[in-house]
Amino acid sequence: MSNKTFFTPGPSQLYPGVSDFLNEALEKDLGSISHRSATFQEVYGEMVSQLRKLLNLPDNFHVFTLGSASEAWERIIDNLSKPGDTTYHFTNGSFSKKFFSYSKGLERNAVQYEAPFGEGFDMAKADIPANTEIITVTQNETSSGVAVPLEDIYSIRQQHSDKIIAVDVVSTLPYPDFDYSKIDTLFFSVQKSFGMPAGLGVWIVNDRCIEKAKSLADAGYKASPHHSIASLLKMAEKNQTPATPNTLEIFLLSKVCEAMNVKGVDTIRKETEEKSNLLSEFVASSSNFDFAVKNEAHRSKTVIVAETKKTPAEINAYLKPFDMQIGGGYGDYKTSQVRIANFAATTVAQMKALIELLKQEDKY
Ligand SMILES: *Cc1c(COP(=O)(O)O)cnc(C)c1O
Repeated sequence: MSNKTFFTPGPSQLYPGVSDFLNEALEKDLGSISHRSATFQEVYGEMVSQLRKLLNLPDNFHVFTLGSASEAWERIIDNLSKPGDTTYHFTNGSFSKKFFSYSKGLERNAVQYEAPFGEGFDMAKADIPANTEIITVTQNETSSGVAVPLEDIYSIRQQHSDKIIAVDVVSTLPYPDFDYSKIDTLFFSVQKSFGMPAGLGVWIVNDRCIEKAKSLADAGYKASPHHSIASLLKMAEKNQTPATPNTLEIFLLSKVCEAMNVKGVDTIRKETEEKSNLLSEFVASSSNFDFAVKNEAHRSKTVIVAETKKTPAEINAYLKPFDMQIGGGYGDYKTSQVRIANFAATTVAQMKALIELLKQEDKY
């Protein structure tokens, strides 16, 4: 690996140690062993127990592996509702909208509460139909840098205790400290806030999801046979997966979670806030940058998005000799915004070094 530090919001900076973990995986022949072997079962079991510890997951939640977070969008809609059912989606950027569009594509009656790019939601304005089966929230909209406060997510549960609440945590975990009694399913892929190469999705479901999938099946509905909840659960109980999995990445996730546990999730959360505060102070005082998310209460702490006068390409050309890179804006905002990832893989010292350079650059 080079000495470069990636403040890009996905793929992102690798978590310290990943290069050693990868070597260890190869030394252990994890690229060749059978996924039905006891060795695999140990690797999988260890990953689940490290992740459970990191997230403080209650026993009524189950951990499954998928190909990506996008796959989780489809699995959630397909397993927990049937065509024609109503699903409700909070949308305010590219990723939340894709979740909504997957539901439409699967012929559900998908309803959205759409907020403008860069804005959050007023929960009092959410008009969730009584017959809604699934409510989806992208806790951290990676394209715009808007985060949904956890209390807002919990407020949905108070009024809609019968519905499945699905939360996309791709660019934020393990920062949020969830009250798991208020949500039913959450998912992420590993190339963002977990600091790993892309190629693995993790889908976490509670017993309500398992029961819901079962009652749909009992009523004659057939979910896609690929990665159905029933097949994932049956295999996960044996520390296995229905299809040949990405064993290397399952091992890496286990080691990254272990390293995060050694550091301590509280320390990770504190450092995330410290780095986010430093970055925010800088953006507030910068002559080049301005906050893209105007409402501070809706501003993400893990993906900081700023309007920029200089283009991201110009800024990255300046940062290049110093071995650093930040993210450009998403989609239509490619040149007018920057996105700076504040994930656990980067240290306070690295963030300070980036800010120092950006301050110098402000003067030109
Ligand atoms: C990147 C991202 C996804 C999609 O992840 P893939 O690994 O590309 O499937 C979903 N949701 C959010 C919030 C993301 O940032």
